[in-house]
Amino acid sequence: MKNILIVGGAGYIGSHMCKYLANNGYNPIVLDNLVYGHKEAVRWGPLIEGSISDSRLLKQIFSKYQIVAVMHFAAFCYVGESMTAPAKYYRNNVADTINLLEVMVEKNVSSFIFSSSCATYGEPVEIPITEKHPQNPINPYGRTKLMVEQILDDFKNAYGLESVSLRYFNAAGADPDGEIGEDHKPETHLIPLVLQTALGQRKSISIFGDDYPTKDGTCIRDYIHINDLADAHFLALKRLINGLPGGKYNLGNGDGYSVGKVIETACKITGKPIPINIVERRPGDPAVLVGSSKKAAGELGWKPRFPDLYTIIETAWKWHSRYPEGYKA
Ligand code: UDP
Repeated sequence: MKNILIVGGAGYIGSHMCKYLANNGYNPIVLDNLVYGHKEAVRWGPLIEGSISDSRLLKQIFSKYQIVAVMHFAAFCYVGESMTAPAKYYRNNVADTINLLEVMVEKNVSSFIFSSSCATYGEPVEIPITEKHPQNPINPYGRTKLMVEQILDDFKNAYGLESVSLRYFNAAGADPDGEIGEDHKPETHLIPLVLQTALGQRKSISIFGDDYPTKDGTCIRDYIHINDLADAHFLALKRLINGLPGGKYNLGNGDGYSVGKVIETACKITGKPIPINIVERRPGDPAVLVGSSKKAAGELGWKPRFPDLYTIIETAWKWHSRYPEGYKA
């Protein structure tokens, strides 16, 4: 069985990837420092507890297992925190990633799949956002993702390291079996917060601004199901294994839903009241972020299987209603 190193495999996206790989005949080997990840989410292969800043550990892992490719999901991803603690973000998301890449080069592992972000584009000048849209990130988090993309270009030229950077729009939903799901502490993402409100764990959901130039005045985002992200990673992996060149791809549905629509849909699914509270806009939030994924469709053969918002929230609800306390329970 082919070994894939999943850095950050105890996290939300990484754990779904592990399940997907195991179901498709691969052995996911997880390296996670468990700062935000959950031990309980690692069920489909070994867990190595440690950090990519530890070159010695990395070398041991590459010596012990014959690793075919590396998928890198480990990053700090709180935009607000990245503004107040940029050093932490540049160190973890950029410097430590360079460390990982250097060891890969030394150990002759040349296939890398990177979790990038639509945050690399910054304020959109055109919707839908294609890969050709200018990349002008407006916060340190987005800059760390863009820097790694650029570093990967340099590593390809210098060392032949081939990579696919996947620019996620809003990752959402959960494993349709309800086995694993989204459990961030602290939670800042809209859908889990809305579902926690439905569960009565929060008094209300704050809507960050209802005076945007959109139909209902709330922000529009492109929500993409976690398993569709896993599909795209798997297609990217096959592309690299087959010796094809890497690339950079948007991963979104190409369809936007407003914050109001998300709450309304969650009300229908949960059958519970979800009180709202309109508050100030959140700094740095563009009115609309919707991506075009035509490139991923054409070159990777990717087609989202769970594109509708109802299914996305329904799968998330399956997890949240089953494990209201998250993995702790
Ligand atoms: N949002 C909101 N209230 C919240 C959290 C988020 O109104 O408590 C809005 C936010 O302004 C954005 C959308 O929901 O328009 C999605 O935000 P999230 O933080 O989930 O993802 P982001 O788009 O920031 O990556």
